[in-house]
Amino acid sequence: MKVKLAERMSRLGTETAFEVLAKVVDLRRKGRDIVSFCIGEPDFDTPEHIREAGIQAIQKGRTHYGPPAGLPELREAIAAHLTKRYGVPYSMDEIVVTAGGKSIILFAIQALVNEGDEVIYPNPGYPIYESAIDFVGGKRVPLPYWESRGFSFDINELERLITPKTKMVVINSPANPTGGVIAADDLKRLAELAKKHDFWILTDEIYSDITYDKEFHSILKFPGVKERTILLHGFSKIYAMCGWRLGYGAMPRELVPGIARLNNNYVACAATFTQLAGKTALEGSQEPSRKMVAEYKARRDLIVGLLNEIKGVRCHLPFGAFYVFANVTGACKNLGFKDSLDVEDYALEKAGVAVLSRMRFGRKNAGENDEYIRLSYATGTKDIQEGLKRLKAALEDQALASQWLKERKK
Ligand code: PLP
Repeated sequence: MKVKLAERMSRLGTETAFEVLAKVVDLRRKGRDIVSFCIGEPDFDTPEHIREAGIQAIQKGRTHYGPPAGLPELREAIAAHLTKRYGVPYSMDEIVVTAGGKSIILFAIQALVNEGDEVIYPNPGYPIYESAIDFVGGKRVPLPYWESRGFSFDINELERLITPKTKMVVINSPANPTGGVIAADDLKRLAELAKKHDFWILTDEIYSDITYDKEFHSILKFPGVKERTILLHGFSKIYAMCGWRLGYGAMPRELVPGIARLNNNYVACAATFTQLAGKTALEGSQEPSRKMVAEYKARRDLIVGLLNEIKGVRCHLPFGAFYVFANVTGACKNLGFKDSLDVEDYALEKAGVAVLSRMRFGRKNAGENDEYIRLSYATGTKDIQEGLKRLKAALEDQALASQWLKERKK
């Protein structure tokens, strides 16, 4: 049967990492040995005390629907956690719990952005921002995050993009796909601009507990900005709870009923026992999370060191998340590749290594002449060593690359 989807579906993007993951799964099924750096998911299991809390909740019959804004006990725990962590007072009526932090992106944009409104968002960036803006008929205004600025933006460039139609600015720090963090001075200026030009800020801080070497700054700490800010956070990354699907938004209380209504329409509520496990995650021991972050830091140092040993590759030390964004411009030139998509295909086909091209995180910015690939190091040390050995061999083998290019043309 030929299915003709509604017109709006042509405007809905997707999370591109899952497309490469599908190729990895297919190749593995065919018996290929693939080292995968493509998916941004902790390889650790959820800490035991959190798993136990989920099991207990099921055993106690907490398997019913809950309120669309989230269970009051979890909303209270989140508000207390944010108040302590950010030094900004939050109360439970400013929190909406969702099935994954991701929902907050679509909900916030659906609730606030009218057709034709402009939304400034990171490029390269997490693909769901662009998808959500397109879906609601908003106008996308990509903001370059430059390597020369530690993969953050230039605040003057951001200011030039603001127009009377700017409804929202989305920021992400530490960032996917680059691991870059936004400097406190730039956040301060952005907070002033938001007040002056009266726009919303959606701050995606899902990786804010995974930072190294540098202190993390949230835009929320600047005065007068909380009432125009939606904070996106969740449990997937820091508590290794991706599959539980649990996240939240913190926002002005007047916005809560709208966001909760969207949540109700889509999923009714996040799973009740998952929410109770989340409460334990916030209130219980943070030691397992600290250990995970220490392990990510060691892996980051390892992977950055190994990448910088490859001819034609340059990689800065990222300060957060679990991604490196390596500059492969030199390798592309050496091997006669058109762009980083060639690197992605070549690495998968000839080296059995899955990485993601920069093109999977938005179109190139004007003046962006370099090529990049993203590697997630939320994977074991052995895989990092083996994968980088294979990548080095392939990216330094001109004969293999020429042969691959010829095969490709056929
Ligand atoms: N925001 C960013 C930048 C992400 O990278 C992700 C997941 O990869 C999310 C939000 C959503 O995470 P979740 O829906 O698992 O909470």
